[in-house]
Amino acid sequence: MAKKDAAHGLWRRQFLGGAGALAFTGLSGAKLLAQQPATATTAVADLVMVNGKIHTMDPNNRVVSQALIQNGRFAAVGNNVAVPRGVRRIDLKGKTVIPGLIDAHNHIVLVGNRPGWHTPLEHVFTIPDAIAALNARAAEVPRGEFITTVGPVSAMQFMERRLPTLAELDAVDRPVYIQAAQGGTRTNTQGKVWLEARGVMVAADGAITGPSLANSLQAMRKELLTPETRKRSALDALKYYAKLGITTHRDCGAFHADLPSGGVANENTYTMHNAFLALHREGTMPARLRIDFLHQDSATANPPLPTLSARLKNSFPFFGDEWIKTGGIGEFTGGGVEGLRAIAKAGWRAEDHALSLAMVTNLIKDRETVNAEIPLSGLRWIISHVPEFPMDLANRMNAMGMGVLLGWGPLRTGTNVGPPYRMLMTHPIKKGYHSDGGDITIINPWVNFSTITTGKNLAGQQILGDQTLTRQEVLWLATAANKWFIEEDDLGSIEIGNHGDLAVLDRDCFAVPDEDLKHTRSLLTVVGGKVVHNDGVL
Ligand SMILES: [Zn+2]
Repeated sequence: MAKKDAAHGLWRRQFLGGAGALAFTGLSGAKLLAQQPATATTAVADLVMVNGKIHTMDPNNRVVSQALIQNGRFAAVGNNVAVPRGVRRIDLKGKTVIPGLIDAHNHIVLVGNRPGWHTPLEHVFTIPDAIAALNARAAEVPRGEFITTVGPVSAMQFMERRLPTLAELDAVDRPVYIQAAQGGTRTNTQGKVWLEARGVMVAADGAITGPSLANSLQAMRKELLTPETRKRSALDALKYYAKLGITTHRDCGAFHADLPSGGVANENTYTMHNAFLALHREGTMPARLRIDFLHQDSATANPPLPTLSARLKNSFPFFGDEWIKTGGIGEFTGGGVEGLRAIAKAGWRAEDHALSLAMVTNLIKDRETVNAEIPLSGLRWIISHVPEFPMDLANRMNAMGMGVLLGWGPLRTGTNVGPPYRMLMTHPIKKGYHSDGGDITIINPWVNFSTITTGKNLAGQQILGDQTLTRQEVLWLATAANKWFIEEDDLGSIEIGNHGDLAVLDRDCFAVPDEDLKHTRSLLTVVGGKVVHNDGVL
């Protein structure tokens, strides 16, 4: 069923896009259809990139000048690649290339289900630039319809260290609603009128606080969300991050809500993937999505594990194709030790997050209890965030074959909450990069890399002490190191046989001054040999 739909969607797009070619060759529609490949992923043209600084992130950290992609995978990587005739050639003009970035834990599915014309603002660093970005967006938004940014923006990222006020947002001739991951919620006059008509209290400066905060988001979800608008948000979100070089997202779920909720991290976890599945059917996914299932059964529920046991009985881990695949249980497992036992028995992956030393210590203790009965080694269980994390805990996790995801922290609070990057970088434990962004922090990898490599938060305060990493190390965490966390060896590095995923950057992220790193963008992003973002420069 899905395959048929995908083929149909592809044919329709190619037919519409290729009407001129059709007229020129004189082929009938039926004949053209017969010549089309069966799925979007096989419709990719081969291409060769030359004259680049291609950081392969292979085991030797080779930097080469050429890469050939055939049938969606790297067919040759080096400095003297033999190029078959007729292959599309891209002159990189000395640009820096990295493997497509893998965010091994974020909440892209929440971002793809936001009400309104959802507009992430993670790439602007002043209020005037934010207003300009919103005005650019307004050009494609019908009059009277909401432009929203729910989650993917932080007041800290602006030089002004605050959100725009109502008066500033009034420069945008549409209702505007911003709920920042950090720094509050704001609307403008047009938004205020709409919200106040629904009983939401809005202050004179556009701030929305207290119970009105949840009421505002709930009202917007109730009235503005349809399957079509969700699909639009999902596509826009994936495209936005493709511009920043992300080619694979591992989504770590949401707090389940049957009905439209007022919580920024809440969604219906049984239907929220539909928009992404629809894009997949149409063959228009601009990035890969890996889906984990978040469960929160109470440890004392009777009967026990009401949602988790149903999941383990009725779903499949690591099932799907190269664009969308299921994963494990997380980032909450639920059900206490009994929940962990059920997951281990079923042979699934499990992930929980840790917000403090006490929390991570307890998580590890519970896993040691289960590990004594059912060895966890080989299941690749994960703990993410680990803000406070002494070496003995890393030793204990490593002994069970577990891994830690790093990256969360500095952006979320702006203070030093770890994790101890340097200690973990030199430790044998498996580690990878994650942003955890989408609701309580931002996804933009370059802002995260900036903090991790400079040790400074967005206000310029030194918060990481001696625990910073080099740029090579942080790029490795977000590419090759994340193979382990998504359990796919053929992503994350530019090597023969791997999927053709890469980003051609607008600057040399290994050499630019510290201040420039956070502004890094992709000029050209390729997923499986398919160009999913092109600035038109190359
Ligand atoms: Zn998370």
